[in-house]
Amino acid sequence: MADIQNLEQRFENISVQDENLDLNAAVAQQHKQKGSLSHAISLSNLGASTSQNRLKLPLQKIPTNAQSKPPPAIAQSTTTTNVTKITLPSQAAQQQQRSSADSRPSDPDPIAQLPSEPKPKPKQFHLGMFEIGKPLGKGKFGRVYLARERGTGFVCALKVLHKSELQHGKVEKQVRREIEIQSNLAHPNILRLYGHFHDSKRIFLILEFAGKGELYKHLRKAQRFPEPQAAQYVAQMASALKYLHKKHVIHRDIKPENILVGLHGEIKISDFGWSVHAPNNRRNTMCGTLDYLPPEMLRSSRDDKDNFYSEKVDLWSLGVLTYEFLVGEAPFEDSAVMTQKRIARCEMTIPGFLSSEARDLIKRLLVLDPEKRLSLEEVEVHPWIVKHCAKGGERAYNRNSQEKGGQ
Ligand code: AMP
Repeated sequence: MADIQNLEQRFENISVQDENLDLNAAVAQQHKQKGSLSHAISLSNLGASTSQNRLKLPLQKIPTNAQSKPPPAIAQSTTTTNVTKITLPSQAAQQQQRSSADSRPSDPDPIAQLPSEPKPKPKQFHLGMFEIGKPLGKGKFGRVYLARERGTGFVCALKVLHKSELQHGKVEKQVRREIEIQSNLAHPNILRLYGHFHDSKRIFLILEFAGKGELYKHLRKAQRFPEPQAAQYVAQMASALKYLHKKHVIHRDIKPENILVGLHGEIKISDFGWSVHAPNNRRNTMCGTLDYLPPEMLRSSRDDKDNFYSEKVDLWSLGVLTYEFLVGEAPFEDSAVMTQKRIARCEMTIPGFLSSEARDLIKRLLVLDPEKRLSLEEVEVHPWIVKHCAKGGERAYNRNSQEKGGQ
């Protein structure tokens, strides 16, 4: 099985020093095949926007920012998009087109299969192939825009990362890893990464469009989610994490800020910046966010190299997430020092308004000993999940999306 180092080596061709694209030429030849930009996943069969549920979204120019004015070629290409509207095919239509690419949890590991798997010739992307729409958001290292591939009409989110900023932040390796891992995942509750390309200054990620934005914002607005809604989310998370762990991927940064919501209210785990492909399931790097940090990761920073941790870190984070969904704040929220102390002792108060089943699930996930945490299979059949998701997590999602898709 390829280890993460090999995977990273295969990404050397998106080194931030590379300049394998003359962007002016690329825009001028928008619909012609160009030389190698990337080894992106094929988008060729994802297209056709033949949907009844169409959502009109206004287009905007890519805003110029003071530090990095876009080259005239991009301004030119965005000018042509001013009068266009992006029409969004229904989630169901896009999902159907994707389904052939989807691999089920029981499929062989696509990461391990990369070298030998017979694949259609990957489509090579460049900026001119996309109409750029409204900005969807801004992250630490780049902006995300609504976009549509001109050839197929496929609606997606285009994430633009500036190489200089990645270099400055010393996160090139992290981004490579994120691309490599995420582009090999296909699950309804994990944000798809369809491909990537780059020019001399930027890396572009072609992402699935999550129509309802950030889960974090929904949570802040609602303050806390009703138990049935929270249970649906937790079931979807368990399904997605089970899929990831089967592929030996540990996410390590599960929190509401890293979860997006699809058009039908289904959640999509995103941000694989901290995730690792760990075929032996053991890592000992300190990462993640304090409120969601599992006790074994705290210990590994303090003590010695023997404190390796496994995919069970995501189970702890799922417990914190369940708590935050239901209570509106994380269970160990405090000053930085106190948060760490409270995590180390698993010191939390569960409010009385939570049902006994919800309390039980939280207590069985937030267990100091990683080996004693509830497994994802057990989460899926836990009474609280069963009570609110009649047919279990994954099936509840499918039933839900079918009902809504058929409306
Ligand atoms: P990020 O840099 O990934 O943190 O993205 C910045 C913001 O852009 C997020 O907080 C979202 O609001 C938005 N965003 C990112 N990716 C998507 C997507 N695939 N679909 C919709 N909105 C997105």
